[in-house]
Amino acid sequence: MQFENTLAFAQKMDENDPLKAYRERFLFPNFLAKPIIYFTGNSLGLQPRSTKDYIQKELDAWAQYGVEGHFLAEKPWFSYHEFLSAKAAKIVGALEKEVVVTHSLSTNIHLLMVSFYKPQGKRTKILCEAKAFPSDQYILETQVRFHGLDPEATIVEIAPRAGEHLINEEDIYAKIEELGDELALVMIGGVNYYSGQLFDMKTITEKGHAVGAIVGFDLAHAAGNILLKLHEWKVDFAAWCSYKYLNSSPGGVSGLFVHEKHLKDKSMNRFGGWWGHDKSVRFLMEKGFRPMETAEAWQLSNAPVLGMAAHLASLDIFDEAGMEKLCAKRDVLTAYLEFIIDEVSKLYGEKCSFEIITPRDKTKRGAQLSMLVHGEARKLFDFLTEEGVIADWREPNVIRMAPAPLYNSFEDVYYFGQILSKAL
Ligand SMILES: *Cc1c(COP(=O)(O)O)cnc(C)c1O
Repeated sequence: MQFENTLAFAQKMDENDPLKAYRERFLFPNFLAKPIIYFTGNSLGLQPRSTKDYIQKELDAWAQYGVEGHFLAEKPWFSYHEFLSAKAAKIVGALEKEVVVTHSLSTNIHLLMVSFYKPQGKRTKILCEAKAFPSDQYILETQVRFHGLDPEATIVEIAPRAGEHLINEEDIYAKIEELGDELALVMIGGVNYYSGQLFDMKTITEKGHAVGAIVGFDLAHAAGNILLKLHEWKVDFAAWCSYKYLNSSPGGVSGLFVHEKHLKDKSMNRFGGWWGHDKSVRFLMEKGFRPMETAEAWQLSNAPVLGMAAHLASLDIFDEAGMEKLCAKRDVLTAYLEFIIDEVSKLYGEKCSFEIITPRDKTKRGAQLSMLVHGEARKLFDFLTEEGVIADWREPNVIRMAPAPLYNSFEDVYYFGQILSKAL
C-alpha cells in the first residue's frame, strides 16, 4: 500500500477501517489539556466502556444474594471462570479444555514450571532469551534454585549477535541442538517486550521437542496481539496477562494453557488447591487431591470474580471483532506508524537521531515498534508526553509504541508524526 503523510490520507484510511466503530467503545485518558494519543496498549490497555457494567453486575449480585451468588447469580461465581475459557482459548488458538483464566501471570508461570520443569540427570538446562522481562528472569532463577541447581550453570541465554538488536532465530535453533539431551526446557517470551520481536513459536516448539525438551512461552506481549495457534503448534504450556493488549484492568487476571496431551498425566508434579480438584466432588471436601483433566487443574483458588468480570467484558469485544480482523488492521496500522517515523527521519535527516529496532518484516512483529533514540532521548520522550503522546520509556534509550488495532486510528498515527516533527 502507498502511504501518505497527510491528514486526508489518514482520515480516508479510518473511514475504510472495518473496525473503526470499536474506538468509541473505549475510554481515552483525559488528564492532559490536549487530546491524548495512546500508544501504550502493550503496557496497560484502555478501559472498555462496558467494563463498569460487567463489574457492577457482580457487585449487584453480591448485594442481592450474598454467599448464594455462588449459585444464584446470573453467572454463578462457582463456575465463573467457565464463562471465560472458550473465549480466551479462541484468542490463543487452543481447545477450551486447554485454557483457564486464573491468578496472575507470574504466579501462573511458577505453577506451570512446577509441572513442566523437571530437571533429571544431565537434562537440567533452561534456554531463554537474554534480557527477558525481569519477572521471567526471577522466576527462572528461583525455580532453578528451588531444585538445588545453580542458575549460572543451568540457565542458557540467547542474546542478539554483537552490534545487533534482535535475536537471530538460527542461534536459538543451533543452541537447542547443541544442548540436546541436556536441555530440559525452552521458555521464551513469544514477543519480546523490549524489541517487539516476534519469535517463530511453531519452529521453536518443533526444535525443542526434537531434542526431547519441553517448550513453554510467556505470551504477555502476544495474547490479543498475534494470531496464535498453541494447540496446533503443540506448545506444551503458556501463560499471559490480560491487562496489556487484552484491556482487562491493571494487574488483571491471567490466562494459562496446557496442551491436551498433558491433561491426563497424573504423574505430573503440581501444587494443588481446591479449585483444581475434580469439581464434581469438590464439596465432599475429602482427602486426596484429584486434579481435573483440563487446564482447570492448575487453579488453586476460587475465581476473583470482579477481575474476571473486567476480563470477560474485554473478551466479549475480542470475540466480536475477531483476531483475524484485528491482526489485519494491526499490520497496516503499525506499517503506517513505521512509514511516518521514516518520513520524519527523512525530512529531518541530519538532526534526526532515532531508528526502529523492531523487525521491519511484519511477520516478525506485532503492533509494537521500539524506537532507539540517540542523543537526547529522554528529552524527546518528555516532549512527546507533554504533547499528549502516551508512549513507554525503557532504559537506557528506547521508546516503545504500540498502536492497538481495537482503538487506535490512522489519524492518531498522523498526529503523532506531526508532534515528532515538532519535537525535532
Ligand atoms: C507484563 C509482563 C509480566 C508481568 O507479570 P505480572 O505477574 O502480571 O506482574 C511478566 N512477563 C512478561 C514477559 C511481561 O511482559
